[in-house]
Amino acid sequence: MKLKYYGTGAGYGLPEVFCDCRICRHAREVGGKEIRTRSMALLDGQLAIDLSVDTFHHCAFAGLDMRRVKHVLVTHSHHDHFFTSDLFSRVRGMEEPVNFYLSEASGRGVRAIVEKHKAEFAAGTRDPKAWTLAEVHTLEYYKSVNILDYKVTPLRARHVAALEPMMFVIEKDGKSILWAHDTGLFHSDAIEWIKDSGIVFDFVSMDCTLRRGAQITKSHMDLDWCIETADMLRANGNADENTKFALSHIGHLVDRTHDELTAEAAEYGMIVAYDGMEIEI
Ligand SMILES: [Zn+2]
Ligand SMILES: [Zn+2]
Ligand SMILES: [Zn+2]
Repeated sequence: MKLKYYGTGAGYGLPEVFCDCRICRHAREVGGKEIRTRSMALLDGQLAIDLSVDTFHHCAFAGLDMRRVKHVLVTHSHHDHFFTSDLFSRVRGMEEPVNFYLSEASGRGVRAIVEKHKAEFAAGTRDPKAWTLAEVHTLEYYKSVNILDYKVTPLRARHVAALEPMMFVIEKDGKSILWAHDTGLFHSDAIEWIKDSGIVFDFVSMDCTLRRGAQITKSHMDLDWCIETADMLRANGNADENTKFALSHIGHLVDRTHDELTAEAAEYGMIVAYDGMEIEI
């Protein structure tokens, strides 16, 4: 599998619009890997993970071609992971719908839009040839689904519970990915499911939103909790010396520049994702 990160930022991107902290100032001065747009990643050019408020930016400036992407896993409906306003655009030449896969709670908004559009198509008051077409598929925790050639299993994330946030286990061709955004330390049911699966992950992408030691919320992780999570996966047999760990969902709260965090994470054998990073898994 080939994974490309388009957006690796936390909720407000980096630099944050009104912020004058050291990290945001550095991002403005240096640019490059210090600039982080909001969440989006693409597997093999065909399966997206999240579609944030910055999708327009990814299409306009980073070469993303969403005309070719028909399947989107959505972790949860926060705007930095799922932005439904693009579904209101009038389009031409869209023959096939884009399929969104997400929890019941996070899918309520998009489902209402899609159902309204479909009713209007049926009534003849809206032309289906002129509007973005979409289908919504509801995922349940721990129930695997097949999407294209991938087996996808949603796990319960420790995030805003009302949104039924999801982590994803993605398997294909004997390789496996654990996508853990947004989440704090894993719930015991997620740990047990992973342990029982016997999967040894090839790649793990983890939430590293918080400054090390400043665990101001249980809904995200800092480097210490990422290390703890990696150790837990190793202890349970779900990671080994070949498992690659990457940190992402990074904003100014982390209080490290990309280079600083990269050096610190390297001490624990982890890499730090950046916008545009590609990984062969
Ligand atoms: Zn987020
Ligand atoms: Zn800042
Ligand atoms: Zn969130």
